Amino acid sequence: MCREKTDWEKAMEFHGHICVGLARGYRAAKVGMEILDAHRSPDEELVVIAETDNCGLDAVQVVTGCTMGKGNLIFQDYGKNAYTFGRRDTGKAVRITVKSLGESFPEFAAIRDRVHGGKGTPEDKEKIKKMQMGVITELLQGSHDDLLQVQDVQLDLPEKARIFQSVTCARCGESVMEPRARVRGGEYVCIPCSDYYPSRIAGA
Ligand SMILES: [Zn+2]
Ligand SMILES: [Zn+2]
Repeated sequence: MCREKTDWEKAMEFHGHICVGLARGYRAAKVGMEILDAHRSPDEELVVIAETDNCGLDAVQVVTGCTMGKGNLIFQDYGKNAYTFGRRDTGKAVRITVKSLGESFPEFAAIRDRVHGGKGTPEDKEKIKKMQMGVITELLQGSHDDLLQVQDVQLDLPEKARIFQSVTCARCGESVMEPRARVRGGEYVCIPCSDYYPSRIAGA
């Protein structure tokens, strides 16, 4: 008997383990897609701006189909559990913030902080393991008003991914995308090589 895996199962498989962080990103993506009335992006109609690169982002990639390689996942290193989901065709976009664990699951968060801070007792560690599945279930099934904050946003969607020409680095001989190449002494070099390039040759 064969059935299609659920998105949640696919997310766990992709991420490699089940965790609270994964469930948080998963729920944000599900709600984002629902609000935009969007489907998993086969090409680039959907765009995601992620303000974190923690566990949850893996679920966001699976649910939306937006990835770094396709150029429709933009990572902004703000350290916030927030994702903006946008559609190129309708221009509609929504920013979804996952409420902190302390806000949604205060007891769990308090014990988890103790454990992560190295101050957890053996009972704390047992308890957190037992509570984890309940928290994940709640994240997947609970009312999204309790878990997420949703804002409509205006978004200047980035241009579709462009294909750039490659040039050859004069120092290591490897091929490099032209906009990432540097010019030293009138020649193209790659970024790692540009650091080592003697400045008197570069004339800098
Ligand atoms: Zn994880
Ligand atoms: Zn090089």
